[in-house]
Amino acid sequence: MSRKPVITVNNLVKSYGDVQAVRGISFEVFEGEIFGLLGPNGAGKTTTLEIIETLREKSSGTITVAGFDVNRDKNQIKQIIGVQLQAAGYYPNLNLSELIHLFSGLYNRKTDVYQLLHSVGLEEKAKAKFKELSGGQKQRFSIATTLINQPQIVFLDEPTTGLDPHARRNLWELIKEVRSKGATVVLTTHYMEEAESLCDRVAIIEKGQIIALDTPSLLIDQLIASGFQRKTVVKEATLEDVFLSLTGHEWRDDA
Ligand code: ATP
Repeated sequence: MSRKPVITVNNLVKSYGDVQAVRGISFEVFEGEIFGLLGPNGAGKTTTLEIIETLREKSSGTITVAGFDVNRDKNQIKQIIGVQLQAAGYYPNLNLSELIHLFSGLYNRKTDVYQLLHSVGLEEKAKAKFKELSGGQKQRFSIATTLINQPQIVFLDEPTTGLDPHARRNLWELIKEVRSKGATVVLTTHYMEEAESLCDRVAIIEKGQIIALDTPSLLIDQLIASGFQRKTVVKEATLEDVFLSLTGHEWRDDA
């Protein structure tokens, strides 16, 4: 993988009145990687993501996205990024094909609707309304909408929250595919096994500061090298493995 930075965040600070949500964080995201922002509720992940997406104003610091400055070049940045809308942002009575046409119009692009829906396994749902989809299908559709402008960088805020284990694995495969087609992916998650299996590097954020940043494997090795030992004996399988084994194979169309 190339180590060319595509996002550079330098000493980012964001205050909401008296609350300092982001307290001087710096990091780089490299071209072609899946980069994860991890942290507890309220750590400042969404704030950081939305400032990089040019959707929120920062208090101070500098950020460049593909060489563009978030203060000066908002429009150029918006053209090269894909941002996942919250589900509430969709018109519930339009079908998927109509929604894709609508978004394509906003981006002034012509989109092959079938091909796009096929890429997220939803080609058979072209005439279904958004509100008729399962949770996993909704998330897959929302990832499809981030790809309409063929973005260089895709931002996903908690893409698998609330999904069952099958649907989550489905989404992981989809996110890997998005990356394998050349995009850089930046995501937030609360699921550590998701970060471990999906992210090339992760930044752990707590109270608005980065407290660790590396590959999941190196972070784990560092902890073990410090003498850490798990208190409980780990079994060969987890309850999630039981669930997955009982409810079928890992890839399901309805998930
Ligand atoms: P979660 O995992 O719960 O989504 P997060 O890490 O994404 O959390 P943020 O949503 O960035 O955290 O919030 C960071 C802090 O900033 C919190 O204390 C939150 O209450 C505060 N905050 C976020 N948005 C606003 C806002 N628009 N106005 C005031 N305070 C805000």
